[in-house]
Amino acid sequence: MRPGSVSADNPQGSVLADNAPEARELGLYVHVPFCAKRCGYCSFNTAPLEDGAMVRYLEALRREIDLLGALAWAPRVRLSTIFLGGGTPSLLTADELAAMLDRIRSHFELVADAEITVECNPESVTRDKLAGYRTAGVNRLSLGVQSLDDSILPRLGRLHDARGARAAFEAAREAGCDNLSVDLMYGLPGLDLDGWTRAVEAVLDWQPDHLSAYGLTLDAGSLWGAAGIEGLPTEDTQVDQYWRLARAAAARGLEHYEISNYARRGFRSRHNQIYWHAAEYLAAGPGACGFVGRMRYANVKATPRYCETLAGGDLPVASFEHLSERQRLGERLILGLRVSDGIPAALLETRLDGDSRLRGFVDEWRARTLLVDTGDRVRLTEAGFLLSDALFVELL
Ligand code: SF4
Repeated sequence: MRPGSVSADNPQGSVLADNAPEARELGLYVHVPFCAKRCGYCSFNTAPLEDGAMVRYLEALRREIDLLGALAWAPRVRLSTIFLGGGTPSLLTADELAAMLDRIRSHFELVADAEITVECNPESVTRDKLAGYRTAGVNRLSLGVQSLDDSILPRLGRLHDARGARAAFEAAREAGCDNLSVDLMYGLPGLDLDGWTRAVEAVLDWQPDHLSAYGLTLDAGSLWGAAGIEGLPTEDTQVDQYWRLARAAAARGLEHYEISNYARRGFRSRHNQIYWHAAEYLAAGPGACGFVGRMRYANVKATPRYCETLAGGDLPVASFEHLSERQRLGERLILGLRVSDGIPAALLETRLDGDSRLRGFVDEWRARTLLVDTGDRVRLTEAGFLLSDALFVELL
């Protein structure tokens, strides 16, 4: 089957029926496509939550889970991770979340210690709600703090302030969450190095188990991408912010295990490692993307259309692509090099074979200690992480 799209007039999920996963254990990503308000920098598939929209979405999601569970290969696989992302999944009540997870469990076996993560925005959680999530089986929370500067947060479009972020973190701990991640952003308009240092130290004082820190990018689908934004720090300042975090996290014993992610030992994100290892995962929800067999696929993006498709009894797959051997190799290289464990040296050698120009490029990275060999593996250093996009473009 060649790369292609499912007809917009007749979307259906037979491509999923025809493409059984190769692995016994998979991840599952569930997309919740609503937010209370859209942030200026965000290009994710999300929209303001309107009356009745959550109920319609949850009904459609139930149908999607039922249809996925009815696939002939479903009884042969087990879920090792479930990740609820968005959007703002913490807009779900504990009862809604519990019903969703019960539906998933009714169709799919979960491994005994399955990681179940929910992305949360500080203003949409309380201790009681998070305790309810925990009772439902959620064992990991990812808290979208982004900034602790009360002059920057409203400009981003965020609805919480620094106190609210801290309160949400404490509420999560009081609710029993012992695997708690915090998201921060650097390169933000109005954020200088001192302000970033204060935010990093404050969050590290909270002692999160995991910390994600992404540099701002002005994506085309975002408000800021379209209209522009003033006050961005210089590239040099952003580089300084990257290093300030890397050193502060190391000083607190956090492992810099992926370009943008830090963790206490034993607290790496298992779900995200599925992506970085180019392993297989199912997708549910509007616009969610999955990878099974050798096929990458994406669901219908618009939530009303997603709901209509499922009401008609079809899986909402909108497009799919079967990866060639060359594409698979490229993905394994660039995803694997995102992680501090790196990739088998033999895998890189396969890509370099017969390509003297690329080999010269890679040799230069080795000479600059951006790329290092450790036993039979090769990995990026922290300096290499910072420049990795330039290498990834070459490796694809
Ligand atoms: S950044 Fe998060 S909260 Fe803001 S619009 Fe995007 S998904 Fe919603």
